[in-house]
Amino acid sequence: MSGRILIIDDVATSRIVLRTRLQACCYRVMEAACGAAGLRLAREHAPDAILLDLDLPDLDGISVCRPLRADPATRMIPVVMVTGNPDPGARLRALAAGVDDFMPRPVDEPLLLARLRSLLRARETEAELSLRETTGRALGFAEEVPAFDGRRAVIAVVAPEPEAARAWQAALAPHSAHRITVPGRAEAVFCGAVVPDAFVLAADLARPGDGLRLMSDLRCRTATRHAAMCIVLPEGQAELAAMALDLGAGEVVTAPFDPRELALRLDALVRRKRLGDRLRASLRDGMRQAVRDPLTGLHNRRYMLPHLARIAERAGQTGARYAVMALDLDRFKTVNDRWGHGAGDAVLVELARRLTDNMRAVDLLARMGGEEFLVALPDTGLAEAQAVAERLCRVVEEQPVPLPTGGTASVTLSIGLAIGGGARPVGEVLDQADQALLLAKAAGRNQVTVHQMTAA
Ligand code: GH3
Ligand code: MG
Ligand code: MG
Repeated sequence: MSGRILIIDDVATSRIVLRTRLQACCYRVMEAACGAAGLRLAREHAPDAILLDLDLPDLDGISVCRPLRADPATRMIPVVMVTGNPDPGARLRALAAGVDDFMPRPVDEPLLLARLRSLLRARETEAELSLRETTGRALGFAEEVPAFDGRRAVIAVVAPEPEAARAWQAALAPHSAHRITVPGRAEAVFCGAVVPDAFVLAADLARPGDGLRLMSDLRCRTATRHAAMCIVLPEGQAELAAMALDLGAGEVVTAPFDPRELALRLDALVRRKRLGDRLRASLRDGMRQAVRDPLTGLHNRRYMLPHLARIAERAGQTGARYAVMALDLDRFKTVNDRWGHGAGDAVLVELARRLTDNMRAVDLLARMGGEEFLVALPDTGLAEAQAVAERLCRVVEEQPVPLPTGGTASVTLSIGLAIGGGARPVGEVLDQADQALLLAKAAGRNQVTVHQMTAA
């Protein structure tokens, strides 16, 4: 975890105390003695976190935070406000301006460090996401990020007693746009169809510290692994707060809490959680994109070859046989030449559909490039594979393909077939299918040829 921390504080001794502590933990430190200088350093160096004094000689901390949040270059930098004891109104204004947390003076060092670790972790996710989305947009498959995600989140509250949970719910509801639920402890763990986006957990449930165990439990389960966690602690439990942050809580608040403040913190938590969700979704999409042919939606070569290797490996273990077909459209160049590239694309899409419709779910069809396709049929012998190949030729030949510009194109397909199994290397079977395809072309196209070794 990289760690450049900007301290904005007008009192030199306060800066020195913080700097010494941070440097002892290998953070690199920048310092500014007033708000304007702090803003300048933040914009120039984009530090990983900012420790901000509430009272500054030129701008107050809130007036420093607002422009930070408005500027895309500094918007994601976590800001912790180091203060004496701000009144509740100042805390609310600071949270609304985008401050992530408060550290009362004198600063509790383990708590500050745990807080920084937690914020830096969250920031890494956000930085990674923006990188992915930039790359995705450059490649042309990511959507523009919506500035504001207005969907209502579900926030589950778990307190020691059901009455206490309902009291928290009643206190939060008027200040939060989200849906607050009060599941029992078991219900929270085995949540049904509606999985909460965030949990507010009392640190002490049936036993002291039980809330942290519940949090760990929720983080082990698939459904709730990525939910945001807010731990509610009794007063004066800095050590437990630091532990909660290190165990993965995104927020810790002290009871009794100001419901308006908790609602603002939960908004920030839900925003962060959704960013994480988006990152994971973009990863999944990226993987899907990487193994798909964008024109036909079929798998591509990158997916096909390792998959075929697994089919061959399993056949080697079970003694089953498998079939490999190399397919190539006949004289496809003339389709492009006659009707244009768009017509050629339409033929490829329709071909993919017809082939898919005429295979079993376990069979795999991939576009290997251009107008060449490969089919793998697990657990299939020669007679069956030959019947499938003949059928594929027929479903392509029988119906001319409608073209987007009107009219139709008649196309045919040549197929080379080879059977694999036992210890035969899969590369050899592929080569045989390719050789058989060349023979099918040479013999006049629109036909199936079986490799001689297979036929023998
Ligand atoms: P053969 O029967 O010997 O296979 O003849 P052919 O014309 O099909 O083979 P050739 O390899 O000479 O030409 C293949 C053509 O496929 C050339 C290329 O323009 C076209 N092609 C490859 N990929 C695409 C594609 O994605 N879209 C379109 N429209 N055409 C493509
Ligand atoms: Mg061809
Ligand atoms: Mg070709």
